[in-house]
Order: sequence, then structure tokens, then C-alpha cells
Amino acid sequence: MKNITVIGAGTMGNGIAHTFAQSGYQVNLMDVSEVSLEKAINTITKNLDRMVAKGKISEADKSTTLGNIATKTDLKASVENADLVVEAATENVEIKLNIFRQVDEYAKPEAILASNTSSISITKIGAVTSRPEKVIGMHFMNPVPIMKLVEYIKGYSTSQEVCDQITTLSKNLNKIPVEVNDYPGFVANRILMPMINEAIITLFEGVAGVAEIDTVMKLGMAHPMGPLQLADFIGLDVCLSILNVLHDGFGNPKYAPCPLLVNMVTAGKLGIKSGEGFYDYAESRKAEKVSSQFS
Ligand code: NAD
Repeated sequence: MKNITVIGAGTMGNGIAHTFAQSGYQVNLMDVSEVSLEKAINTITKNLDRMVAKGKISEADKSTTLGNIATKTDLKASVENADLVVEAATENVEIKLNIFRQVDEYAKPEAILASNTSSISITKIGAVTSRPEKVIGMHFMNPVPIMKLVEYIKGYSTSQEVCDQITTLSKNLNKIPVEVNDYPGFVANRILMPMINEAIITLFEGVAGVAEIDTVMKLGMAHPMGPLQLADFIGLDVCLSILNVLHDGFGNPKYAPCPLLVNMVTAGKLGIKSGEGFYDYAESRKAEKVSSQFS
């Protein structure tokens, strides 16, 4: 495999493009939004600068990596030469099914089509293409250039040959692939989201406060981040939507989202991206500004 197309240049798409490009693959990064593409290249450049400053890569590696990425807004032109397409567009079933129908039409018959979805069924995505045996989940973790795991998801029809190719490819990216079957939440989110939901229920029931819950899990369980802080980082809307997928998919009340989470999302308190979630990011930025006046 040489030519990789990444569809969607948001948080995950830019990290995935960066990772492939740094490992020597030619990457077409495609998005419907020019602004997203511009932001993605800026983010990749900043992240590469940080790696150069830390002595992890050279200036020459940085230029080669950036030179391996081309940005595009035209889907057909971006996928027709691809050996592998990794879709990392907005988490919305209709958007994804639409992208896969078109990619199936434009990409070479032998191309593998992967989705970075956190929760949508790979079997369902594969079923709208003419090549379900070549459709697979490739679930990278955020931030992609740093996190080692690739949870790859074998849909009902995904072939073993495609799983083997994705295993080899993930290792070439210096990642550790883990095979998982296609059931709601896969493995990562099936275990993580009930823990986050339980932390929110613990807060909702007044058992302890935000800082106390996070401190117990950080210091007691050696988690690098408490569950409420992690929920803010992921996005509370994303957490809610994954819990709904688990709840609907298994029909088990243990996955029912906490009413406090539902209320916060309804009120637009989505975590870091909206400036407020369980923590107040606008306030902390204000605090930074104030302290910088004295430094
Ligand atoms: P994001 O909102 O940051 O970026 C999504 C991008 O997709 C945007 O730039 C948008 O313009 C683009 N897009 C929308 N429709 C498109 C289309 N039809 N064609 C091309 N581009 C289109 O989202 P994200 O956080 O990067 O998530 C992307 C995917 O990765 C989702 O499926 C999400 O579930 C999954 N994921 C996210 C995380 C995370 O921590 N953010 C972790 C693992 C997996």
C-alpha cells in the first residue's frame, strides 16, 4: 500500500493524515470544508514543530512529512488512486453511508475502505458498498500521532485477508493493532463509556464532587485523567451519542445515559469544545490571561 486517502480533516483526520505521512505514505486529505483543511495543515505543522523541538524528528523529516500530504475537496479525485481510504468524517450515520456509497463507486475495486467511527456498525457501512469484505473499522485514538492503539473492527463480512493487511499496515505506522468484532461500542467505548456514565451518576447522586471523583480515579486507579475530565476532553455530546448506541444496540438499561449528561448536552455544555463541561475552560483561560500579566 502506498496511496492513502483520509476523508474528514477534523481532530482525528489531521492526526491520521499526519501519522501515515510521517511513515512515508502518500496521503490525500479530503474535506468538504476548505477551512477544516487549512486548520488541519496548521495543526499538523505545529505538531511536527513540537516533535522537532523535542528532538524526536529532524527538520528534513518535517518537510518530507508535509510534502507527503495533498489536500483536496473533490471526493472522486481524492480516492481514485487510493489503496486504502480511511474515513474520519463527522459521526453521523447518513453522512458516513453517503460517503461510502460514493467512495465505493470511485475507488479501485481492490481498495480497502476503512472507517474511524467510534460507534457506527461496520457491518451496516459495509452493506451499502459492493465490497463488504473489504470494509473494516480502523479506530484510532486521540491524539493519533501519540496513542499506540489501533482497535480494528471486523464487520460481519470483513475478510481475514483484509484484517491481515490492516494488521501489517498498523505495525508499519508503529502502532499496536487489536482485532475486535463488530458489536455496539466495539471494546474501547463499551468499557470506557459505562465508566464515564457511572462517574456522572456518582456526581448526580451527590456521592462526591467533580474534583473528588476525578482525584479518586487518578490517584487510586492510576488513570492519567479522571473520568469527568476525560468526558470533557472527548465531548459530552459524543459520550451521549455513544451511550445511546450502546443502550439501543443491547436494549439493556445499564447503558441508559445519566439524566445530568442529557441535560448538560441539551444546555450546550459540551466540554472543552464549548468552553464548559464538568470544568470551566473559559474561566481557566481567563486565569491564564490574568497570571500572564504578572509574569
Ligand atoms: P471533527 O468534527 O473534528 O471533524 C469532522 C470533519 O469531517 C470536519 O472537518 C467536517 O468538515 C468533515 N466532514 C463532514 N462531512 C464530510 C463529508 N461528507 N466529506 C468529507 N468531510 C466531511 O470530528 P472528529 O472528532 O475528528 O471525529 C471524526 C470521526 O472519528 C468520527 O467518526 C468520530 O466518531 C471518530 N473518533 C473520534 C475520536 C475523538 O476523540 N474525537 C476518537 C476516535 C474516533
